[in-house]
Amino acid sequence: MNEPLSFVQPTANSPWGTYLSQVDRVVPYLGHLARWAETLKRPKRTLIVDVPIEMDNGDVAHFEGYRVQHNLSRGPGKGGVRFHPEVTLEEVMALSAWMTVKCAAVNLPYGGAKGGIRVDPKRLSTKELERMTRRYTSEIGIIIGPQRDIPAPDVNTNGQIMAWMMDTYSMNTGTTATGVVTGKPIHLGGSLGRVKATGRGVFVTGREAARRLGLNLDGARIAVQGYGNVGSSAAELFGQAGGKLVAVQDHSGTIFNDKGLDIADLAAYVRDHGGVGGFQGAEPMHGEDFWDVRCDILIPAALEGQITAERAHRLKARMVLEGANGPTVSEADDILASRGVLVVPDVICNAGGVTVSYFEWVQDFSSFFWSEDEINLRLDKIMVDALKKIWDTADKHKITLRTATFAVACERILIAREERGLYP
Ligand code: NAD
Repeated sequence: MNEPLSFVQPTANSPWGTYLSQVDRVVPYLGHLARWAETLKRPKRTLIVDVPIEMDNGDVAHFEGYRVQHNLSRGPGKGGVRFHPEVTLEEVMALSAWMTVKCAAVNLPYGGAKGGIRVDPKRLSTKELERMTRRYTSEIGIIIGPQRDIPAPDVNTNGQIMAWMMDTYSMNTGTTATGVVTGKPIHLGGSLGRVKATGRGVFVTGREAARRLGLNLDGARIAVQGYGNVGSSAAELFGQAGGKLVAVQDHSGTIFNDKGLDIADLAAYVRDHGGVGGFQGAEPMHGEDFWDVRCDILIPAALEGQITAERAHRLKARMVLEGANGPTVSEADDILASRGVLVVPDVICNAGGVTVSYFEWVQDFSSFFWSEDEINLRLDKIMVDALKKIWDTADKHKITLRTATFAVACERILIAREERGLYP
């Protein structure tokens, strides 16, 4: 008998609720492994930490931090760290579970994990941010490590944060533990190609999906929500392939240009101003109108739950490339499928980041570093091969790419679970 989890009450469209319904959909395709499916619905280990720091004005502030290891059957935990005022334990659980599925979908020897702090980092000074990052790393130090659980950047975290995490863990263990985090600066054992890897993976899966749909990327209309690491890198590559970036939305505003925005100018503007709002080479647009823009490819690359049922009815895209994690609620998934809008799901679409994180980790262990061309070529091949297997599975069972990705990934996870056996 399986008691429900006591510490989270998911709703249908909440991140954990969305994840659970995705698991339910894959169970009929798991054969005899279905008896292990409940294991996917429970995080293996859930840590909540208090992160007290001294602020620059002498006050003491407390932040709530999390690290969740969802499943470690196939290897150490892997997953980013998010700093955002709306981070919750439930969200981190869902993000860690999607990491389990994602790592297995591209066949990396990792389990899934995720972390976060409930904070608006934009309100902290650099010194406060460093103190918070270091204290958080120390607090979760009891469960992370190069062979245990390896954090990486996510929303509002970057190479500098990873450098502080690596240094803190190293100080606490008396080592120089480059392999404890990925997404590090190059001088600290980071990998070439990592910063743009997630956007590159979004582009590669989009390119393959477009080929299958007979959609020419040259002249294709692209709309992107979230113009940070993932959204901007993907937009740049689609631009190089001839795509026209017609609409962009981020936390600072929504902009539109029917003839296509200048992507290099926009990148420079975002670097200087911290967001797309106010960019001169486009018209401002009401935020909700973003979802009505006529486009071939829509790339949600911000936060979860953005494509609601109501917005799914309105979208005018031929395909959705999920750069973000969990951007589409389950009800919206069904609506998009019934409208013939192809969704390349997060668990394969944005797997480029963790794939190059894996390359970084391997390079750190061997202390031998690869060229950027080599990394990009290997990434391309892994993404293309993984998508092909998923597409074949979708065709075979007549299911969506999301359920097919879960089918491929969950089979791998549960085979590992079964072969390891239950302890004791
Ligand atoms: P980022 O911090 O670099 O960028 C986030 C972007 O989202 C910013 O442009 C921000 O303005 C925008 N945003 C935030 N709140 C918004 C709102 N309410 N409405 C519209 N836009 C909003 O983060 P990132 O690393 O690019 O991550 C974006 C998404 O991609 C997340 O879902 C993350 O989990 C996912 N992801 C990231 C990576 C990675 O390697 N960085 C890997 C896989 C998946």
